[in-house]
Parts: sequence; C-alpha cells; structure tokens
Amino acid sequence: MSTATPDTSTMSAECAVAQRPEYKDLHQACRQTKDVPLPHGGGILLVRRCTCPHHRYNPPAGA
Ligand SMILES: [Zn+2]
Ligand SMILES: [Zn+2]
Repeated sequence: MSTATPDTSTMSAECAVAQRPEYKDLHQACRQTKDVPLPHGGGILLVRRCTCPHHRYNPPAGA
C-alpha cells in the first residue's frame, strides 16, 4: 500500500479541495493552521489543525 494519497479527512475544506492541481491556490485560503481547543472543554479540540503537507509544521513524509 502506498501513502501517496493524502488523507483529506484531517485537512481543512480548503486544503482538501486544493489537493487537486487545478485548485492548488486554495492552499492560501486555509486558516486552519493550529489546534483550537474548546474554551472550557478540558483539552477537547474544537478544531484540529489542518494536516495538509503544504503547511510548514507538516513536512512531506520522507523529506
Ligand atoms: Zn494546504
Ligand atoms: Zn491547510
């Protein structure tokens, strides 16, 4: 099995669409670059940061 296909289920909507070359500009629209905890959620995340490889915190595997 290959891991070449990114898992878009953990990406923002923008970056999920941007996996298509014709929509790659949408990477710039991604604002989901950090985890957002619930204000009183005891460590529960409201929003998880986007796992798109284009973000610097998430270098491509094997790089
Ligand atoms: Zn992206
Ligand atoms: Zn993103």
